[in-house]
Parts: sequence; C-alpha cells; structure tokens
Amino acid sequence: MCGVFGIFNHPEAANLAYLGLHALQHRGQESAGIATSDGDQLSLHRGMGHVIDVFPPEQLARLKGDNAIGHVRYSTAGGSMLKNAQPIAVEYSRGSIAIGHNGNLTNADTVRESLEARGSIFQSTSDTEAIVHLIAMSQQKSPEDRIADALSHVKGAYSLLCLTPTSMIAVRDPMGFRPLCLGRMPGGGAYTVASEPSSFDLIGAEYIRDIEPGELVVVTKSGVKTARPFAESARSMCIFEYVYFARPDSTLDGISVYEARKNLGRKLALIHPVEADVVVPVPDSGVPATIGYSEASGIPFELGLMRSHYVGRTFIEPQQSIRHFGVRLKLNPISSVLKGKRVVIVDDSLIRGTTSRKIVKMVRAAGATEVHMRISSPPTKWPCYYGIDTPTRAELIASTHSVEEINQYITSDTLAYLPLEAMHEAVLQARRPALGANGNGNGNGNGHARSLPVISDPKRLESFCHACWTGEYPVEFTPPPKQRQMRLLDI
Ligand code: AMP
Repeated sequence: MCGVFGIFNHPEAANLAYLGLHALQHRGQESAGIATSDGDQLSLHRGMGHVIDVFPPEQLARLKGDNAIGHVRYSTAGGSMLKNAQPIAVEYSRGSIAIGHNGNLTNADTVRESLEARGSIFQSTSDTEAIVHLIAMSQQKSPEDRIADALSHVKGAYSLLCLTPTSMIAVRDPMGFRPLCLGRMPGGGAYTVASEPSSFDLIGAEYIRDIEPGELVVVTKSGVKTARPFAESARSMCIFEYVYFARPDSTLDGISVYEARKNLGRKLALIHPVEADVVVPVPDSGVPATIGYSEASGIPFELGLMRSHYVGRTFIEPQQSIRHFGVRLKLNPISSVLKGKRVVIVDDSLIRGTTSRKIVKMVRAAGATEVHMRISSPPTKWPCYYGIDTPTRAELIASTHSVEEINQYITSDTLAYLPLEAMHEAVLQARRPALGANGNGNGNGNGHARSLPVISDPKRLESFCHACWTGEYPVEFTPPPKQRQMRLLDI
C-alpha cells in the first residue's frame, strides 16, 4: 500500500511530484517523500504524515532540479517510522540513486540475512533497502543494468521508481502485482511515471500506457528506452486494486476501476437479490458497487451514511484502539433515509467484521426495519504478502467463521458475498477496448505509444492475484515476512 510518482525533464519537477503524490494519497498516508536531481546532485526530503504536511512551500522550494521521484507510504513491511519512509537515497561507488517502491518482496528477509552476513549495514526495516544494497553490489555498469541485476535476486511484488542524476528508471515486477503507468507532459520532452493514471490528470499529463509486467523503462534527456530483462511469467495483477484500493478514476492495465466496481455491484444484485426499499453504500469505496447494485436490482440508491472526509481511512491508523473508534468518527447515519426502511448496505470487503458490525448497529439505531449486508468481493480468508495491508489470518473473520456465523456476528438480517468467478468476470468486463491509448480519457498517447512496445499477448491480462480469497499465492514466500525490530532507536 504505497504510491510512486516520478517526472523527468521538467523545470517544475518538485512541484509536479508534490501534486502527483497528492493524487496518490489514498495509497498511503503514513509518510511521504520526494527526491530530485539537477543532473549532478540528488536532494531528498521525507517526513511522516500526509503530503500536504510533509511539504510546506519552503521545503518544496529546496528540492532543486528538473527530475523528481516521490513516494507515499503505508507500511506493509517494516514499521511505521521515518527511517522507513521513502524514497531511500544513497551514495555508492558508482554515484547516487534514490528509490521508491510499491509492493512487498517475499524473500526480503532471506536476501537481507545473506547481505548482512557479507557485511551490509541496514538503516531501516523496509524490504526496499535490500534492493539498494543489491544495486550497490552489482558488477554491472549502467544503473539500469545494475537495477535489473539486483531485481533478479528478489521475489514478490515491486513497482519501482529510481532516480539517478541523469535518468529515471521504472520497473514493474514480472507478474505485475502492482500498477505502474507512463505519461508525458504536453509539448513532449518531460515524461512521468505513476502508480495510477489519475495523478496524470491533476498535472495535465497525457497517459501513454501501462508499464508491462517485467518491463524496465529508462527515461533520460534523449527520451524513453524500454527493456525486458526478466523471464516471462504469468500475470498476477492484484484484483483487489479494482475492488478497493485504486482510485475509481484510474484505468489500470486497460480496466476502468470505476466500471469494474459498478459491474461488481450489478453481479452482486443478480446473484444475491433481496427485497428492500433502499440500497446504501459504505462510503466512499462502496459507492460505485452500490450504483451497480441499484441499477441491476431497481432498488433506489440513497446516501444513508455520511462520511467525514477529515479523518483518514479506518485502517490507516495502525493501532487497534484508534481503528475501533475510527468507524464512529468517520460515518454517521442519515435517519430520514433509513427510518422505517428495509436497507441493503453494500461494502467492497469485510475483513475483521468490525466496520460492518458497527454500521449495521448504527443503521438499525437510525430506524431501519431490516439490514441486508452485501459485499462486492468474496470472503477474505488469507493475508496479502504482496503489498496490501491485511491483518493476520487469525484476525480475518472469514478464515474461521462461516458466512452465517459472520452474519450473526455483524447482526445483519442477511449477509452475502460476491463469488470469485463473478468478481473476475465483473472486472474483465470493465476492460476498455483500446489498450495503450487514452487510458484515462486524457490525451491519446499517439506517436510515443507506438514507438514503445504495447501489450504483446492480451491473454496474459486475464490472470489476477486473488490469494486473499483463495490462498493460492502466485509467488512463494519463505519464510513468511516478519516484522523486524530496530534495536537502534533514533528518537
Ligand atoms: P473490517 O472492519 O476489518 O471488516 O474492515 C472492512 C472495511 O475496511 C471495509 O469498509 C473496506 O472498505 C475496508 N478495507 C478493506 N481492506 C482494507 C485495507 N487493506 N486497508 C484499509 N481498509 C480496508
């Protein structure tokens, strides 16, 4: 759960990186950072908190140069502390490099242990630091070859953005777990890379295309080069990005997140109908699915729960105590909508059951006569090891309870989930016809889209990672990632 953004060859690189990160804030709110380069030196600033707090204008002004990469972080590996904020920037024998990473490595501990045995000294607990060491130790010459060499030693999920004094390098892991896309500023010359194309809209950039799984893109003053240094692998884009995580105004790998969510809701209504007076979303992530549910069922859509936008997502505070009261802090029922009504509530996922239980009680207390919970994804039974923050298996209510037991726990009249196959179909049906062009309705990515390779085998698009529902993990993790404790506390 992180976001990366980069821009190369633009006089306002730091400001645009700031805006790009702002549009990716939903991907991580714990820390933010930007590294810039002026062709010679790298400058770096990182801090804990939201982009707007980490970068007051005077701080942004200190980040000099025409090239920038930035990162927003929510810790899924390594603790929540400034040391683990990204980008990580280092100087090594061949110069300097800054790195921002979205995803989790599944063999980070093993790689780290072997590096430490050979004398490497780590500053953080983040798995990304292992990549930095591998780059520094590589015998290859160019930064891109060193990066490819380093990545050949790691497994798991990475959408990676690197900045050297003279280049920006973007890499997506061979399975393409996390999204990454390429854009260009109007007038050409400046290229941009982001986790999601919605951040291009904010800065007026034109979407060119998604970076392919296993592709390495190098941006320099002379333009863009692309390579495929890794062996082909089955595609495993995280389907939960479509269900919950990505912004609905993003199109990822040619699939509109908004349309996918609406389709999920439509299928949910067809597979799990219920007689009701209103259908209400759990805002914000449940809204598009509820629109779809309403459309397919004919039950009127109503906003029965108001969300305060001045608190973060409930998961975003890592401590359990804060997360619990977060539900109350965040949502308030509108009793005129709910009183005396049979209500369907649609949410995208049910993890521990805490949110649903509180919402059901809240909606009943507001006068609803019946409360039917509908979830636009299957029961979440397995933790994610590829970059989505999920609790341990023991905390996932569906790993130990049947749907009926969960229904009783959350105190709804009925509870139903969308089956896996229906979820797949819903997402695939949201694929936009033309890949490589106009992914987000902004610009058309002409010429450049043609001069760069496009999706070679459309069949490869059809597989997603759905391990959190099925336990079928596409990349082994040995041993399961564990939280490393820093014994050196820099307070
Ligand atoms: P829970 O209360 O644990 O059942 O959480 C369910 C709620 O958390 C739903 O409203 C989801 O939209 C939301 N959610 C699901 N996955 C995540 C995640 N990885 N991070 C933050 N929120 C999430």
